[in-house]
This record gives sequence, C-alpha cells and structure tokens, in this order.
Amino acid sequence: MSGNIQAVRGMNDILPEQTPTWQFVEETLRTLLASYGYSEMRMPLLEKTELFKRSIGEVTDIVEKEMYTFEDRNGDSLTLRPEGTAGCVRAAIENGLLHNQTQKLWYLGPMFRHERPQKGRYRQFHQVGVEVFGLEGPDVDAELILMSARLWRLLGLEDAVTLQLNSLGSSYARALYREKLVHYFQAHHDQLDEDSQRRLHTNPLRILDSKNPALAQLVAAAPKLTEHLDEESRLHFKELCSQLDALGVRYQINPCLVRGLDYYGRTVFEWVTDKLGAQGTVCAGGRFDGLVEQLGGKTTPAVGFAIGLERLTALLDEGVVPLERYRPHAYVVRAGETAQQHALLLAERLRDEVPGLRIQLNHGGGSFKNQLKRADKSGAPLALVMGEEEAAAGTVGIKYLREQAEQQTLALDQIVPFLQDYVAGRN
Ligand code: ATP
Ligand code: MG
Repeated sequence: MSGNIQAVRGMNDILPEQTPTWQFVEETLRTLLASYGYSEMRMPLLEKTELFKRSIGEVTDIVEKEMYTFEDRNGDSLTLRPEGTAGCVRAAIENGLLHNQTQKLWYLGPMFRHERPQKGRYRQFHQVGVEVFGLEGPDVDAELILMSARLWRLLGLEDAVTLQLNSLGSSYARALYREKLVHYFQAHHDQLDEDSQRRLHTNPLRILDSKNPALAQLVAAAPKLTEHLDEESRLHFKELCSQLDALGVRYQINPCLVRGLDYYGRTVFEWVTDKLGAQGTVCAGGRFDGLVEQLGGKTTPAVGFAIGLERLTALLDEGVVPLERYRPHAYVVRAGETAQQHALLLAERLRDEVPGLRIQLNHGGGSFKNQLKRADKSGAPLALVMGEEEAAAGTVGIKYLREQAEQQTLALDQIVPFLQDYVAGRN
C-alpha cells in the first residue's frame, strides 16, 4: 500500500536552489512596475467557469480543451484560472475601480492549463500580468512595450528576445476580414490540416497562427489583416510604430500574429526567443478594448501583457542572479552548553541591531570541523565562532570563509559595529 505520492503531472516544485532566480525576477519586476506607477492586484485562483467562457471565447484552445473545471459542493461550475486578464477585469468591475478613472495594474501568480507537458509548457505555470484600463491612445501601448524592453535590459536578456507587432483592427473590420479569409481558405480546403479545417468555421484567424510547416506557404499567401484595417485602427497602429521608432525600440511587423484569445483587438505583440525551442513566446499582449463591456462593465479601453515566468527564468544564464543577496552573511558555529545559549542570544541581538543582517545558527551540534563545513555550504562569507572559551571571555571569533584573512577575536560590544559595517559594505 505504501509508495511515494508524486506531484500532479506538469506541476512543478520550485526548489531552494531555484528560488533565488525567481525571487530576483520578482523583485526586479516589483521595482520596475512601481517605477512606472503600476499597482498590484491579487485575485482568487478560482473563478466561475462562465467568466472564462465569456471572455477568452468558447472556441479557443484554452476554453475548448485546457481548463481545469469542476463542480464544487454547491454544484457551481468553477475553473482554476488559465490566465489573469479575465479575473482582473471581473475584480475591477466588481470593486468599482473603473468608474471615471484609469487604472494601471499588475498581478503575479500561478495559472492552470491542461496542456501536454513539455519544455516551457506546464499545467501549473506562473505569469506576471500588466493591464491598463481607461486609456486608448497608442502611447499606452508604447509604454507597456517600453516597460517590457526595460525588463529585458535589467535581466540582461535584451539580446535574447525580439518584438513582433500586429494590429487586429476593430471588431467590425475583423469580421469583414474574417469573411475574406474563410473564402480564401475554402478555396484551398484540401490543403488544410484537420485542425485548420475545424478552425475554418470556428476561429479562422487562428489558422494564420498554425505551427504546421506544411501550411506555411498557404498562410503566407493569405489576405493580410494589415491591409484590411479600419482607418482608426490603421492610424492608431501607425502612431504606435512611429513612437517606437522615435524611442529606438526595434520590432518586426508580423501580419500572422493573432493571439489565441478572443478578446484582443487592435494592437497585439509578442516578445519571442529562439533559445527555448518550440515554446518561444516569452511575453504576449495586446489591446482588449471590448472586454470590460463584454463582462458587464461600461465601455473601457484596455491594454496589457503577460509574461510566462518559467520561460523567462529558463532564459537567465547562471551567474545573472546575484546570489550573495540570498545567502546568509554569517553562520554561527557554537559548542558547549553555555556557549550554545550565548550564541542564541547573540544572534537574536544581532538581528535586532544590525539592519539587513542575514544570520544562520548551527543546530544539531557537531564538531567544530563539521560545523565549519556546514557554514561553508550555507554560502556565508563569515563564521562567528562561539565556544566555551569565547563564552567565558565574552568574545566571538570571526572566521573568513571566502577570503584569505586572519581569524579575529572581537569583544561582544565590538561585534555589532563590525557587522553593521560589514553588511553595509555588501548590500
Ligand atoms: P502558446 O502559444 O505558447 O501556447 P498562449 O498564446 O497560449 O501561448 P498566453 O495565453 O498569451 O499564451 O500566455 C502568455 C504567456 O504565458 C505565454 O507567452 C507563455 O510565456 C506563458 N504560457 C502560456 N501557457 C503556458 C504553459 N502551459 N506553460 C508555461 N508557460 C505558459
Ligand atoms: Mg497556449
């Protein structure tokens, strides 16, 4: 009957050796988003199934086959969120955040999709999402793109990703274009694969997004959405492009970029990399000017993007994350009963008096030699040594673990200023 219970397929543990990278990315994001005046939202992981059906769209991959949907004990149909935009819009409407005001919001957390697990594609994954409500000008689209470009620079990824851009136009222009596209693909029906034949009547724009190389030529020769834009969307897109040009942001216009969710219109963009194999989209976003109204709110323009954090962290080379920041400054080695007690009190006092200090105490005894091995393994640059001798004399030994320097002995009242200087010099 025994045997190990394993995690759900496609749902990963993020282990202590990986969390410094995650924490670094999250800290960088928080600081960056604050520097642009964006505020954090935290939404529930569960929403009513109806929310996703109405926003993402009934005939999208997500709603058709990827959602974790179940009935709770009341018989309500609930779904683990497959993305954050729908919940963010729901929360903004419900809490009156959109009444005569603009909002710049972000959220970060796990999302759930029942996909075939592979590199860069998991069933629980994490996104940071950023959404702006109440502003329709292309300068907002430009700000979001600039902010993401700045993130790549902060993480040293500016050479790893490129920007692709497209406009999907108004829903009216898209409907007209859709007819043209269906007409075109119908004329080449025999060349379509099974997936695309099915999409022809449900979601024909998605055929443009097909990853099947056999369709590449057919897709390349299809009528272009960019040539069927309504005048307002065309100007909006032109203005966005010229702002990006003026700011020196490089991009490629990709007329086949359509995105897999129904709520997008006008601007869509993706940051892609060739370093992660087939799962190359790191960041995806666009305008969803119709969604707030679709979910019962007043007409409110909106634009946003989401970054897949598994793909982002996978791009970070070893060495990018300043690991010192996540390691203790000092590891306390202690032996003898009185000394153990003294060391415990000392560590607490040091935490009170030395701002920013990270100090780890040896537990479970062990010879000095073994304790120093553990100190070394902790990554700390200093060992504080408290034995019977030090306890009796009211001193502490300082041993340098990562540099050639003489061991020192300090009186207890010297240790606070010593560590204050040491920490200040490192942080
Ligand atoms: P893809 O074409 O890769 O399936 P998508 O269009 O479904 O992506 P979005 O819904 O726009 O993706 O999600 C935004 C980002 O979230 C993606 O660009 C990707 O980085 C990440 N992402 C989406 N699905 C997964 C997943 N199953 N596992 C890991 N990351 C994911
Ligand atoms: Mg997908």
